[in-house]
Amino acid sequence: MKKTIWLVIITSAFYSACIGQVQSPAQKYNALNLRVNNGPQLPYFVDGKELTDQSSVDPNNIEKLEVLNGKEAAKLYGAKGKNGVVVITTKPVVKGSARWREALDPAVTEIWEPRVKKITAGVKAGDAPSDAIVLFDGKDLDNWIAQDGSEAKWEVNDGAFTVVSGSGIIKTKQAFGDIQLHIEWRSPTQIVGEGQGRGNSGIFLQERYELQVLDSHESQTYSNGQAGAIYKQSAPLANPVRQPGEWQVCDVVYTAPTFSESGRVINPAHITVFLNGVIVQNHTEIRGPTEYKGLPVYIAHGKGALVLQDHGNPVSHRNIWVREL
Ligand code: MG
Repeated sequence: MKKTIWLVIITSAFYSACIGQVQSPAQKYNALNLRVNNGPQLPYFVDGKELTDQSSVDPNNIEKLEVLNGKEAAKLYGAKGKNGVVVITTKPVVKGSARWREALDPAVTEIWEPRVKKITAGVKAGDAPSDAIVLFDGKDLDNWIAQDGSEAKWEVNDGAFTVVSGSGIIKTKQAFGDIQLHIEWRSPTQIVGEGQGRGNSGIFLQERYELQVLDSHESQTYSNGQAGAIYKQSAPLANPVRQPGEWQVCDVVYTAPTFSESGRVINPAHITVFLNGVIVQNHTEIRGPTEYKGLPVYIAHGKGALVLQDHGNPVSHRNIWVREL
């Protein structure tokens, strides 16, 4: 019994020396750790809870540190405090601070339901994934019609189809809203014309909004009319067009416009386009239907077909698929 009393006195004296008034709580804590490694292990209580892992205490978060012993410790901590106890009070937690965030449960921000649909990606870039609607797989124009609803008259050859000049546009039988679109196009090798007259076709989203198809490899025209432009509205960010006869690979993310019941546009259409792997339209706002003359004005509409333009040039298209978003 006497030994115990002397131990408490020695320990207390040591702690008193280590944790004088000039020391900060962090310094005191570090001094105690040194002592604990060399002397009796006193229980630590942090905010009333016994600490089992001292490395979990951040010294910078300590508001107050006391060493209690004798009757006071035994009264508050019972048998655990009979040889003394280290009492730590931490700083109040400030909402939004790093410490407050550390205390949060990470599971609260995990979203498990609904589960994400599993699909199978194409074997190589540009191949249709398993949930795509394939609009042209190189064989026929079964998914396409002419403007008047009759059979599409463009020519299918070697896994592609080519504009038959004068036969008019072709459009999908199916109508779409928001889509991801993959399409590849090729300007004719026989160069005819200049500017808008060379290798001109077009991809019309929802039958109204033209993403320009043009031989812009070397031929010059107005910037918002070249390949990759939203025609007469937005020039492409770069011109990555390959030479005529080479396939140009086009990937589009299109968000359809939305309208109020009275027909006013609520959200204009937006489009992102990669041409040959280069972004040419970056979430571009479409200001209305494509107009050759004058400014566009939105007119409310629902889903619409994908339309390919007959501009009189034998432009070819292939590998066309969409995913509805
Ligand atoms: Mg065009």
